[in-house]
Amino acid sequence: MAIERTLSIIKPDATRRNLTGQINARLEEAGLSFVAQKRVRLTPEQAEAFYDVHKERAFFEDLCNFMITGPVVVQVLEGEDAIAKNREIMGATNPANADAGTIRKDFAESIEANSVHGSDAPDTAAREIAFFFSELELVG
Ligand code: ADP
Ligand code: MG
Repeated sequence: MAIERTLSIIKPDATRRNLTGQINARLEEAGLSFVAQKRVRLTPEQAEAFYDVHKERAFFEDLCNFMITGPVVVQVLEGEDAIAKNREIMGATNPANADAGTIRKDFAESIEANSVHGSDAPDTAAREIAFFFSELELVG
């Protein structure tokens, strides 16, 4: 276990329903701290670049279109084992398969509109944090 940083996004389905505070309370209660946070409206180009790893997937276009339907909150979490811990609190991609008490089980609308994003490994966390924030914007 080590102190890690990970990128978290509150997706448009959750900002639209005013769930940002409830979701972030769960992350803080689990011992994760915010070191950066901003509310942005992604451009189509930004959504496509962010999800570039999924560009061959059937859901890519729909996903990018969904991510620009409203504002998102992009944020960096820091804490012990932050990458795995955030994924655990989020729950499975498909809310139908998510464990009880997870963010996606409680809030997600569908497998696509699933309320939150979380980096899945140290290398993707570093790439995703750098996609939205400069070093100077990370305030621990
Ligand atoms: P996760 O967000 O759990 O890491 P993935 O990286 O596999 O999941 O997928 C990225 C995002 O793409 C998901 O969070 C979800 O919004 C969307 N997505 C994944 N699989 C599907 C699918 N089968 N149909 C529609 N959207 C999907
Ligand atoms: Mg993923």
